[in-house]
Amino acid sequence: MILILLGAPGAGKGTQAQRLQDKHGLVQLSTGDMLRAAVAEGTEIGLKAKSVMDRGELVSDDIMTGIISARLDQSDCKNGAILDGFPRTEAQAEALDSMLTEKNLSLDAVIEMKTDDEVLVERVTGRYTCANCGAGYHDSFLKPAKEGVCDKCGGTEFTRRSDDTAETVKSRLQAYHNQTAPLLPYYRGKGILKQVDGMAEIDEVTRQIEALLN
Ligand code: ADP
Ligand code: AMP
Repeated sequence: MILILLGAPGAGKGTQAQRLQDKHGLVQLSTGDMLRAAVAEGTEIGLKAKSVMDRGELVSDDIMTGIISARLDQSDCKNGAILDGFPRTEAQAEALDSMLTEKNLSLDAVIEMKTDDEVLVERVTGRYTCANCGAGYHDSFLKPAKEGVCDKCGGTEFTRRSDDTAETVKSRLQAYHNQTAPLLPYYRGKGILKQVDGMAEIDEVTRQIEALLN
């Protein structure tokens, strides 16, 4: 199964993708995580991407489609993948269609996580991640059971993203509305667009996604 989670920054794509991955054996393919790894490793792509990401703009379509195409060929994707953060432009969506046809794969569903812009700054600025296993948390909305200890791996170190600031969220939201939201009519036209209420609490969003998949 290939699934796309589509939504604004902070809509909850990564949170729900982690849950789907754990429950359904699908692999979460977060292009943001892949770029952050490339930045940390200092690869050529990382060097190109860093300043673009810091400005809250989009990395080039060629780079992104190349990354996703190579990743889908890896063996852990054989049971399916959840695309989290890709595609983000119409050119990426068209490139995805062609690459899936070439790879003999099909897109099963695109799930829009609908949110109001007003909640996103608080979601994004309160976000943090376990440095060991990558589990996601929030200062107010998703705390670990024991403060300072990751529920999943027991890790005690956490990181925050350098682009998760109130200023950058504004540019990222602009990029979402201008470049990514046009994908909604694109996928609606193909009859595969579904929606969940991204404003609901996290467990309720999970329930809505599971209901769509069953
Ligand atoms: P995205 O991957 O779409 O950018 P995340 O899944 O990282 O968003 O969520 C952003 C932050 O908001 C995280 O800290 C997460 O814990 C929190 N969050 C996710 N979904 C919800 C929700 N439905 N209600 C409240 N907070 C949420
Ligand atoms: P994310 O982790 O999804 O919030 O992405 C973080 C940043 O990485 C974005 O603000 C973009 O600069 C970049 N990025 C991630 N995915 C893509 C993509 N599919 N196309 C272009 N840029 C991307």
